[in-house]
Amino acid sequence: MQFRFRRFDLKLTRTWRIASGAGGAGTNDYGTVFVELADEDGRIGIGEAASTGRYGQPMEIIEAFLKKVDANRLSFDDIPGSMKYLDTVAAGNDAAKCAINIALLDAVAKAAKQPIYDFLKLGFTEKKHVTSFSIGIDTPEVIREKVREADRYPVLKLKVGSPEDKANFAALREAAPDKPVRVDANEAWETKEEALSNIEWLHFHGNIEFIEQPMPATASRADMIWLKERSPMPIFGDESYHHASDIDLAAECFHGVNVKLVKTGGISGAHDALQAARKRGLKTMIGCMIESSILITAASHLAELTDHLDIDGNILISNDPYAGCTAEKGIISFANTEEKFGLRVKVR
Ligand SMILES: [Mg+2]
Repeated sequence: MQFRFRRFDLKLTRTWRIASGAGGAGTNDYGTVFVELADEDGRIGIGEAASTGRYGQPMEIIEAFLKKVDANRLSFDDIPGSMKYLDTVAAGNDAAKCAINIALLDAVAKAAKQPIYDFLKLGFTEKKHVTSFSIGIDTPEVIREKVREADRYPVLKLKVGSPEDKANFAALREAAPDKPVRVDANEAWETKEEALSNIEWLHFHGNIEFIEQPMPATASRADMIWLKERSPMPIFGDESYHHASDIDLAAECFHGVNVKLVKTGGISGAHDALQAARKRGLKTMIGCMIESSILITAASHLAELTDHLDIDGNILISNDPYAGCTAEKGIISFANTEEKFGLRVKVR
């Protein structure tokens, strides 16, 4: 097996800021790592590891892990065994493991002449899956501008957790009075009382579908249950829900979960995390980081297991080297995707 990887800087079209801080003043460059696996039979797969500060997966950690991988221990014919091998290299490192998992599935599904969603027996329904478009923390003037620019996207996600939240939300509503909005606090509110009063304010001001991660993942289980019992709108866990093994806490503390491939260690782990949540009656969504069309398309193969999608990371960048599924008007589609099998991603 041949194994290569390279780092790449994704450039944002607009500065991006969220409560948990990826660059307090906002930043425009996000590092990612692309991987490629190829075997003697000509089977090739590609994958991606987006770097994340919040999950302790900066570029250096991702590359250090990938350097330790012995590609001869990976096999397209044994994906579970390959993932088990990666766990022996080091615990954690889910972003790097995610990149390899996507590449393995890409190659295997391509060899089977199936898209990954059919290889996993999930299928994919066109015109059904809509992604939200995210508006980061900013000044009310810029929020208004960004919301107008996002006119063609039917659902918005507003990042909150700054002193300007109320002015920002009012600015969003000025530019988009009726649009469904999701709100993501990224762990911003330290106490349950602060979280509840903010959630009640947002609920009162209307048409919000749900709130994501109001309190830190380190908040006590009792406080999160207290908030869930009183919240007038559904609460989704994101930073609190990494793997299927976190499901007991999630089922107690949240109405739904946000699954991300870089948290679960790839498509296989995300599939398990979504199934575990559905079995416990939780709503499900897939989210993303700032990432290229490799990771966004990888997430789209699992769309049938979700109630909501927030996979706009590739829409926010200007130098995506890859093309995969499309998101015209927010509608995720494989209809015009050139590559028919595997991950369905090609170099632009
Ligand atoms: Mg989130």
